[in-house]
Amino acid sequence: MTEVTAERKLEITSGLEAAQARILRAEAAANRPPGSVGLVVVTKTFPAREIAVLAELGVRHVGENRDNEAAPKAHALADLGMVWHYVGQLQTNKARSVARYSSIIESVDRIKLVNALSRAAEEAERALDCLVQVSLDDRPGRGGAESAQVMGVAEAIEASPGLMLRGVMAVAPLDGDPDLAFERLAVVAGQVQSEHPDASTISAGMSGDLEEAVRHGATHVRLGSAILGYRPLVG
Ligand SMILES: *Cc1c(COP(=O)(O)O)cnc(C)c1O
Repeated sequence: MTEVTAERKLEITSGLEAAQARILRAEAAANRPPGSVGLVVVTKTFPAREIAVLAELGVRHVGENRDNEAAPKAHALADLGMVWHYVGQLQTNKARSVARYSSIIESVDRIKLVNALSRAAEEAERALDCLVQVSLDDRPGRGGAESAQVMGVAEAIEASPGLMLRGVMAVAPLDGDPDLAFERLAVVAGQVQSEHPDASTISAGMSGDLEEAVRHGATHVRLGSAILGYRPLVG
């Protein structure tokens, strides 16, 4: 693996420190205990060698959104013991590949995908944690189950061999108020948890809206550009 320049290492180190400080401030502002909000660093478009730098700095959870890119990175870094979160829209024909390296699929939004992931988990002989991705957009297209479908998808995960229901995930709408969106997510998360007490994870908050997400109960945030900088344009 080619080396990361000293300058880039410094950039990643200070990006990570700044993000950690920002999470601590958001926790304090929301009257939540320090350290109660987890961090997933979204590493999509950044090379494996930069993920290795994150590992050296103590990051354990990383997020990717395309199997074609994530699979080779995860396999190259398999020795580092990182937890790979899959956060992108997932086609059923990619389930087998994703099940081999990812331990938590955050973007489960339909029953057909639940079935594919369950078969894939059994084949890979791995247990997969799953979050139901909730659409907070009234316009479809960016993934996520509509409110009326969330409980059905949650049930299906709970009933499927190889899959563990852990909670919910969402992305705030591009043009809406993130406060309102995450407030809505908290209500849905409460409904899911009232039926499935162990499903306590709320994955919400990105570089632009982590404060709002933490205010509304996010248990982990997913940060990319705040830590790694602008994503190189690929493909
Ligand atoms: C890219 C991405 C993120 C991180 O976004 P930033 O704005 O770079 O922090 C978080 N969640 C999902 C689902 C993403 O696709």
